[in-house]
Amino acid sequence: MNLSIKIFIALVLAVIVGLIAGEPALPFINWWIAPIGTIFINLIKMMIVPVVLCSLVVGMTSLGDTTKLGRIGIKTILLYLVTTAIAIVIGFSVAGLAHPGLGLQMTSDAVVKVKEAPSIMQVFVAMIPANPIASMAKADILPTIVFALFVGVGIIQVGGKRSEQLIGFFDACAEVCYKVIAMIMAISPIGVFCLLLPVVAANGPSVLLPLLSVIACMAIGSVIHAVGVYSTLARVWGGHSPLAFFRGMSEAMMIAFTTCSSAGTLPVNMKNTQEKLGVSREVTSFVLPLGATINMDGTSVYMGVCSLFIANVFGIDLSFGQMAMIVLTGTLASIGTAGVPGAGLIMLAMVLQSVGLPLEGLGLVAGIDRILDMFRTCLNITGDAAVACVINETEKKYTKAA
Ligand code: ASP
Repeated sequence: MNLSIKIFIALVLAVIVGLIAGEPALPFINWWIAPIGTIFINLIKMMIVPVVLCSLVVGMTSLGDTTKLGRIGIKTILLYLVTTAIAIVIGFSVAGLAHPGLGLQMTSDAVVKVKEAPSIMQVFVAMIPANPIASMAKADILPTIVFALFVGVGIIQVGGKRSEQLIGFFDACAEVCYKVIAMIMAISPIGVFCLLLPVVAANGPSVLLPLLSVIACMAIGSVIHAVGVYSTLARVWGGHSPLAFFRGMSEAMMIAFTTCSSAGTLPVNMKNTQEKLGVSREVTSFVLPLGATINMDGTSVYMGVCSLFIANVFGIDLSFGQMAMIVLTGTLASIGTAGVPGAGLIMLAMVLQSVGLPLEGLGLVAGIDRILDMFRTCLNITGDAAVACVINETEKKYTKAA
């Protein structure tokens, strides 16, 4: 039986057992079951710093070619960053209007920390690590990202054989991180059960509605982003009507929806983009693999929706500064998100950590993560293809001029 089905069964079991057991069983559950959930959360936390460092360094070095590719590279990256930031804002807006999680209340010690949010300037100063090892030891995510960005740029600058060795090293480390994450995910059904059971037992049926509302927000946010942003890109700069664009992409979108992996969908995406949307081989071979690594619009909608959901559940009012921080961290995090199933959950942990939102909320999202992953992966790969169309079309004039 595959993992997603097991997680889903764990989720359903936790809901059924929690509803039957109810409040009288809470002392037992809190003593014996909840700590196992905490162990699961700690295992996820354990991987945040290593995976951020390694995958972001590798992500940066994969941009090394852009110095050669110049104009195309810069345009691609800018478009990727802009669409990603828009995606988080859409996630926020949908969740801001729908208020997922309202009515479900959880508490955490981290709530206290959030109320003492630093000023924007303090945040900028704190982003630059005076001692990167200390930042990593404290799991301070933003300074770790900044450090990783510098290391990545440094490796590109060094060039030659030595930089190849380093890229190989970080690539191998990132691979190890993903293997460890896969091991942790193997016990995720138990983790999800132990995290959800105390919540359901304490809250009763009221826990179900907020989760359905998260799925609805994710679906609506994805549709808005696809129709609003990708249709515009395709029509205005990409040389395709929205209908032709989505029809051309339908196969790749379905594969992405079912596999939950941008990387796994890459061959189909390249085929669709070349054959059905007429994008040149040169453009697809650069823009799409880069996109599968650094462009994650669906994951960004998810970060917007889930961070507001978790804030609601814990009764925290996010300040504008915190939202801006989520857009910033989320945009950077999406660069380091691997195109594999479940990667977004780890990145969400990182985004929550950056603004001091309680990581306990991940347990709620983890139970339905596979469903959310279907929507976000579908959006992730469609975004890559929309940008490929724009690059292809806007580059034509240079080809003609030459
Ligand atoms: N599964 C997503 C992808 O492959 C990444 C994520 O988990 O957000 O694009």
